[in-house]
Amino acid sequence: MKISRKDVDGFIGPYRIEDGSKFRLKDFDPASTGGLKSKDRAKELLALGIEQLSAEQDKLYADDRNALLLVFQAMDAAGKDGTIKHVMSGVNPQGCQVYSFKSPSAEELDHDYLWRTMKCVPEKGRIGIFNRSYYEEVLVVRVHPEILAKQHLPSSLVTKKIWEERFEDIVNFERYLHRNGVKIRKFFLNVSHAEQKRRFLARLDDPDKNWKFSLADAEERKHWDEYMKAYEEMIRATATPHSPWYVVPADNKWFTRLVVAAATVDALQRMNLAYPTVGPEKLKELEAARKELGGGTRPPGKG
Ligand code: ATP
Ligand code: MG
Repeated sequence: MKISRKDVDGFIGPYRIEDGSKFRLKDFDPASTGGLKSKDRAKELLALGIEQLSAEQDKLYADDRNALLLVFQAMDAAGKDGTIKHVMSGVNPQGCQVYSFKSPSAEELDHDYLWRTMKCVPEKGRIGIFNRSYYEEVLVVRVHPEILAKQHLPSSLVTKKIWEERFEDIVNFERYLHRNGVKIRKFFLNVSHAEQKRRFLARLDDPDKNWKFSLADAEERKHWDEYMKAYEEMIRATATPHSPWYVVPADNKWFTRLVVAAATVDALQRMNLAYPTVGPEKLKELEAARKELGGGTRPPGKG
């Protein structure tokens, strides 16, 4: 059994932003489950999605022409790590590369901000995952001007227009990647303020989750409204048909995972991937090898 095209469109269509001009974050409900009532049904669908993802990834690898880059951005405790872990559970680790972007090092700060990104863009045939990304440059850096001050930029370049300029550069960078066979899907895991609080408290209450809690995360929570404004402007400016944003409801983890899996399968299916076929010369070689191995003639119906 497969998830039908209609199912996939139903799960991802409402959350996909290709043109940000009318985008408003308040139109998106973090608690939405896309009309799905049961967690069990969602889990069944997720399992099917992961199977399809695995089959598509195999072809992506064999075809070796396209790469897929999945970018994850979110507030803390929105479920980035768990989503990446679940959605990628069925894929071949050899075909997948995950990078977590932290505060830039001194060496990284000595370069332009895309420098460290460029080295992590997935190779052809691979799926690359960015757990946070260059989008931090218009999020945390925007919310905390002291971080911008540490980027030692010429003062003539640090003007009111800097965020617009960064949006423009990011859109151009993503277009460049698109034109080089790197397809991009961007996920904003949209958790509500109330659900974040609940998850932080769970981290404090449950000894097995204590390690996940950081005081810095609770500090960032105080800037919630500034972050939401920065996210909204970022999505408005950087959603394009070739690098869409998905504003994924994140108050129910089981639904978040389903939307991300479906959007990933969709991105791969749009590449129309197929296993490479071999030409007559290669076929002759294969036949010779078959004889050499004492394998008789090629069984009928095998291509
Ligand atoms: P988790 O907490 O689940 O392990 P995380 O992604 O929150 O995952 P942390 O090490 O807690 O990882 O945080 C990484 C920090 O690095 C975040 O606060 C993020 O804002 C910051 N960061 C990432 N990129 C940049 C950047 N370009 N400039 C400044 N800070 C950045
Ligand atoms: Mg963190």
